[in-house]
Amino acid sequence: MRKNTFYVSIVALLMLSLVSCNGKSGSSGDCDTCEGTGYIVQECEDCDGKGYTMAECEACDGNGYIECLTCLGSGREDCFHCGGNGYDSLGEECLFCSGKGYNDCKSCNGDGQTACDECGGYGEVKVECEACEGYGEIQETCEDCGGDGKR
Ligand SMILES: [Zn+2]
Ligand SMILES: [Zn+2]
Ligand SMILES: [Zn+2]
Ligand SMILES: [Zn+2]
Ligand SMILES: [Zn+2]
Repeated sequence: MRKNTFYVSIVALLMLSLVSCNGKSGSSGDCDTCEGTGYIVQECEDCDGKGYTMAECEACDGNGYIECLTCLGSGREDCFHCGGNGYDSLGEECLFCSGKGYNDCKSCNGDGQTACDECGGYGEVKVECEACEGYGEIQETCEDCGGDGKR
């Protein structure tokens, strides 16, 4: 019985000395909230931590496509061989355009529009998040220690 009490008090003493030892070494003087760094890193709410937000592409007004510059949106280009009238100089049907006088625009394959280079056809572009300047996280001064990392 006595031995037991003695043992317990020794353990208590040991633990006490451990704690006080830590205190002297200074690590327990660090601010718990920021772990001594003086600031807290938080995920940026504006961009969900991604560091960027999506914005409508100005080059294509968000469409993802721009009017083909070669055919100005018509999707056709005048046949080079017959000058657009569908017949050659002998009055024969032009072989190069089958008498149509035009061919599909090579730049846009006849679509009249081409994928926007700026946004790659998505209509949106990544814009660096202003709130976190692209880091995706924001460092805030720790309020508990005023930024010096000490308690
Ligand atoms: Zn075109
Ligand atoms: Zn032709
Ligand atoms: Zn675009
Ligand atoms: Zn952000
Ligand atoms: Zn702190």
